[in-house]
Amino acid sequence: MIEVKNLVKKYGNHTAINRLSFRMEKGKIYGFLGPNGAGKSTTMNIMTGYLGATEGQVLINGHDILKEPEEAKKHIGYLPELPPLYMDMTVSEYLEFAAELKGVPKEKRKSSIEEVMKLTKILEVKRRLIKNLSKGYRQRVGLAQAILGFPDIIILDEPTVGLDPKQIIEIRELIRSLAKKHTVILSSHILAEVREVCDYILIISKGKLVASDTPDNLEHRMNSSEAVEIETKAEASRVREVLKDIQDIKESSVKKQTDGITYARLLPRDGKDIRENVFLAFAEQKVPLLTLKTEHVSLETVFMELTQNENITKLQEMEEREETEYAGDL
Ligand code: ADP
Ligand code: MG
Repeated sequence: MIEVKNLVKKYGNHTAINRLSFRMEKGKIYGFLGPNGAGKSTTMNIMTGYLGATEGQVLINGHDILKEPEEAKKHIGYLPELPPLYMDMTVSEYLEFAAELKGVPKEKRKSSIEEVMKLTKILEVKRRLIKNLSKGYRQRVGLAQAILGFPDIIILDEPTVGLDPKQIIEIRELIRSLAKKHTVILSSHILAEVREVCDYILIISKGKLVASDTPDNLEHRMNSSEAVEIETKAEASRVREVLKDIQDIKESSVKKQTDGITYARLLPRDGKDIRENVFLAFAEQKVPLLTLKTEHVSLETVFMELTQNENITKLQEMEEREETEYAGDL
């Protein structure tokens, strides 16, 4: 189990990580999702003990990464953004060296190395110098190094960068197969990738955790406060009048579409379903509604909205509300 508590990382005046907290359970695939510069690599470097934090704590299976680095690091295999490869070594020599560093027992080294080379499909290049390998192969050698010794937790920073589509599919399959026995954490700035591979997504933006949930729940939670779109046969001013008296509309934007037809987008308060009220209000005022529909929010939209700063509070507000409701039930 991994626990990250109140992590802060400052580079001079710049806060790269801003009070990040989360927990990760065994045997799942977690995805850090966020645009470039969000703080994914910094977080992973701190979790693996490569970088010190300004504040906060990281516990790996109960061991503090700063106070008991050796014990904590035993549980982790890490593929950094720039894998630490030695260009003048052959693939076999490098993995031999990595196995020794990781303390893989001597009698097990040969078989462990064979196994990871097989899994990452690099057996055919094992005698080649790393400097002569393509980017895709180098990435796989880095991955082989990360899973060598099969630690409980495997942390991969943008593992598919620089790979071709066929290699990406192979690496994803490998990641899935690893998750049967290991906890896997990967980072990506590509939504499709985390959605495809991960059981759980942590969306990071500007060093903050803006949402964390399963891909399905993230979509669902956004949908529960989804916007309602209407088209009416009336002038904009008339539409605004009708809207004024409808309860539970938090925000509305009204636009003239063509002569005599007005479009409006309505955001409900507190995730309420306002469709019925909207329909009845317009009917009562004898203003014809031509369409009334809810806008489907895809995970794409969730990601885009959440990683733009002004919308960050949205899911956080929703989460706080859920907590309050839960407290109320007790
Ligand atoms: P990501 O991996 O999500 O792209 P990073 O963790 O690499 O993001 O970077 C997070 C922020 O910290 C960025 O604004 C980046 O410019 C800054 N940063 C990263 N490393 C350093 C460093 N060594 N010195 C100063 N700023 C850094
Ligand atoms: Mg990065």
